[in-house]
Amino acid sequence: MSGEDDATRRAGAILTVDLAAIAANWRGLRDAGRAAGRQIDCAAVLKADAYGTGAHRVGPRLAAEGCRQFFVAHLEEGIALRRVLPQHPIYVLNGLLANTEADFVEHQLTPVLNHLGQLNAWRATAQRFNRPLDAVIHIDTGMHRLGFGAEEAQVLVNERGRLRGLRLALLLSHLVASEEPGNTINAEQLSRFRSFVRAMPGAPASLANSSGIFLGPDYHFDLLRPGAALYGINPLPGRDNPMLPVVTLKARILQTRKIDAFQTVGYGGAWRSARPTRVATIALGYADGYFRVLINRTHVMLAGHRVTVIGRVSMDLVTIDVTEVPEHLCEVGSLVEILGPHMSADDLAEHARTNAYEVMTALGRRYARVYVDGPDPEATTDSPPETTA
Ligand SMILES: *Cc1c(COP(=O)(O)O)cnc(C)c1O
Repeated sequence: MSGEDDATRRAGAILTVDLAAIAANWRGLRDAGRAAGRQIDCAAVLKADAYGTGAHRVGPRLAAEGCRQFFVAHLEEGIALRRVLPQHPIYVLNGLLANTEADFVEHQLTPVLNHLGQLNAWRATAQRFNRPLDAVIHIDTGMHRLGFGAEEAQVLVNERGRLRGLRLALLLSHLVASEEPGNTINAEQLSRFRSFVRAMPGAPASLANSSGIFLGPDYHFDLLRPGAALYGINPLPGRDNPMLPVVTLKARILQTRKIDAFQTVGYGGAWRSARPTRVATIALGYADGYFRVLINRTHVMLAGHRVTVIGRVSMDLVTIDVTEVPEHLCEVGSLVEILGPHMSADDLAEHARTNAYEVMTALGRRYARVYVDGPDPEATTDSPPETTA
């Protein structure tokens, strides 16, 4: 099958997602959990549309690989994921908002209960529907965003009846600084979480996000909870990335022009040529997640040539200096590599003074999305998920 269908032919920019690489990353993390010989499970965090890669494609692919539990942040994300994952537990991290209980029941979603009020509401829901419902309890061990605080956790330990009518599916907590192995907060959170898990025997427990998995088996408990590393983001900042790359982003050249020395390019005249220059304009901008802060700070790859980004990033356009690239390689329609072998999301994040999570979750909605699966890829362009229930 030759690649170019209508969507990619028409597209200004093309995002390619390698589902086999995501699956291999998931297997690698699961096996890291099992290395110590324990029967540990590995979930997948698919919030923010699987970190920009497309939850409706990543979810079923990971389920086929053997992944059995999934996390999202919003109820609406859970409802969308349920359409493509009819069977598997889906946990909603942001918790149980008022008047959404029936939606959770209808779509068989499990709220991550973040305080006693949510627990009470969920227990009442189990009563109302007269059936046992799954519950996940989130304990705050130091993040201080969501979760049962120490006093509320103690209430739960002392009064197990508060869980009556519910099946405790999981106890979880979230690490503050798992990407900093030397940070003492890791061991403090581990110790607080351990005490709580011991006080609530019988329920599976989960502490480790991507970087947390690499803190060692003490942090693994029963269920690993990676997001970022699945999508190729480096869980070990400052060290070699053990994950396979997942995304490639390419944008087309729309026009090229020659300008004299001492001419400016783009809004505000923020870049000025020091010599006669050839400028190419490519089809992506800050509306697609290519941050404005990237002015004069990064490069792209064109036919093996490293090319500087010049001038302000516009909403829909970026300008690059192609003076050193042979003209026949800069034709209109040629694809310039934005993310790929020469630049990872982690690299671009460094240029943009942010992290790869923000780069990935900002990936634009206007890209043609192409999914490949394996080394001999049969590319499938994305079609939106079925919206009929
Ligand atoms: C986002 C999130 C994760 C996944 O974290 P990564 O660093 O992306 O692996 C795990 N647990 C919770 C509670 C989260 O919010």
